[in-house]
Parts: sequence; structure tokens; C-alpha cells
Amino acid sequence: AVDIAPVPAAAGRSGPLFLLLFRDRTAERGIERMRTDFVANASHELRTPLASLIGFIETLQGPARDDAAARDRFLAIMREQAARMSRLIDDLLSLSQIEMKRHPVPGRSVDLAELLEDVRRAMSPMLAANEMEAELEIGPGRHVVDGERDELLQVFSNLVENACKYGASGRRVVLSLRVEGREGGGVRASVRDFGPGIAAEHVPRLTERFYRVDVESSRAKRGTGLGLSIVRNILLRHSARLAIDSEVGKGSTFAVIFPRPKHAAQETN
Ligand code: ADP
Repeated sequence: AVDIAPVPAAAGRSGPLFLLLFRDRTAERGIERMRTDFVANASHELRTPLASLIGFIETLQGPARDDAAARDRFLAIMREQAARMSRLIDDLLSLSQIEMKRHPVPGRSVDLAELLEDVRRAMSPMLAANEMEAELEIGPGRHVVDGERDELLQVFSNLVENACKYGASGRRVVLSLRVEGREGGGVRASVRDFGPGIAAEHVPRLTERFYRVDVESSRAKRGTGLGLSIVRNILLRHSARLAIDSEVGKGSTFAVIFPRPKHAAQETN
């Protein structure tokens, strides 16, 4: 399993001054670099469908002007390209909204058993379209965590959506909940599929923005490459971590491990 967890702030600021400045500049440059890479990637992702749209419009205005069959075919492609730009913009907006909320979530109680049931219901059309069944396995105990319900709904919807997009061949998705015996009694909520799995070298990079194992297959499945980075950012705000466990040929498990809620003592009474 690979854990993707918040990195603790750099320790040891007791070195000589020049070293300290050097370190800080490196960090700044790293962030600046990430920002320019992100803008470059986002522009590229938007420019590709846009270039295709312009190309089809020019063809429709010129060589294909009087070809009714070609027009219908091109319009269908153009519609899909426009829909792709729209999905990308939605995901970019979600990501920037979550990143703007730097502070941790307020301590509102969210019952994950109810939430997963809602996710299953909301995703049922997509599950049915992929001929998949979703099972719910709720372990004993209370599965209440501190968090923002809408954001957690988005996390588990994204994970189930990925199970549908990439793991449909396994026919089954299992959503499970259990109280962690160790680590002070947090809750573990996971989404498991029985699809093709993910090769180990890709796993640590899956939550990077725009990272896709196979760009063409992600595009064909209407992916943007941002789903798991949205998940990662929401979980950071919840002090929760994502553990990805995958085996090629067997399937993948995306598990979210939540810390014990702040008011757990009163709630378990
Ligand atoms: P996308 O929009 O491409 O789906 P995500 O950030 O949600 O982007 O996922 C990143 C990549 O991780 C996907 O392109 C896919 O290659 C891989 N992936 C995610 N979930 C699964 C899964 N359940 N099984 C296999 N591969 C997956």
C-alpha cells in the first residue's frame, strides 16, 4: 500500500542564515514551478479540444459545407469536445475552490454510513450503465467523522466513478466502513474494485494534477486527470489520508483513513 499523507512542515531551522535563505528560495521556486506547470498543463488540456473545434468549424464552412452526413458526424464530435472543455473547467474550478479554503474543516459530524448509502444511490445510473453492482459492507460501531458533507460526498463519488470508468470489467464495487482498532479509533472508508488494477510505478503519482496512467483511455472515458487531485485536496482539509492498494489483474482499493472525531468521547456515550 502507498500512503499519500500531508507532509510535516520542515523541521530544524537552526542552521546558519545563508543556509536558511537558500532553503526558503528553493521552496519558493518549487511552488512557482508547480504553478507554471499547472497553468501550462491546464492550457494545453483546454487547447486540444478547442483546436479540434476550430478545425471542424472551418471544415464545415469550407469543404464539407454541403455534405449533410459529414455535418451530423462533425457536430456530434464537436459537442463531445465542448463537453470535455466544460468538464475540465468544472474540475479546475472545484480544485481552486478547495485550494482557497486553506483552513481545516469545521468540526461538523458526518455519518459515513449514511453518506456512502447516498453515494451509492447517486451513482446508481452510472453503475447500471457499466453493468456494475455496488455492495455496502458496514462494520460494527459508529462511523462518524468531522467534516464537510458535500466535500466528502465528492470524494466518494469520484472514487466510485473511477471504479466504474476503469474497473468495470470486475463488475463489482465494494464500499466498506470500519472503525480502526489502532491509531486511536479513526474510521476507514474504502472503495474497492475488481478491475485491471494499476501498476506499482504509477500508484504514488495518481493524485498529481493531470496524471493519468493512459491519457487516451482516460480521455475516452471522459476523464480530466483531476479527479484524484480533488480527492487529495479535500482529504488534506480533513486531516485524512488516502491509501491506495492495487494489484495488476486483481483490482484496486482506495481507502480513506479519517482521524478520530474531536468530540468522539461524548458521541460514543
Ligand atoms: P481521470 O480524470 O483520468 O479519471 P483521476 O485523477 O481520477 O483522473 O485518476 C487518475 C488516473 O488513475 C486515471 O487516469 C486512471 O489511469 C487511474 N485510475 C484511477 N482510478 C482507477 C481504478 N479504480 N482502477 C484503475 N485505474 C485507476
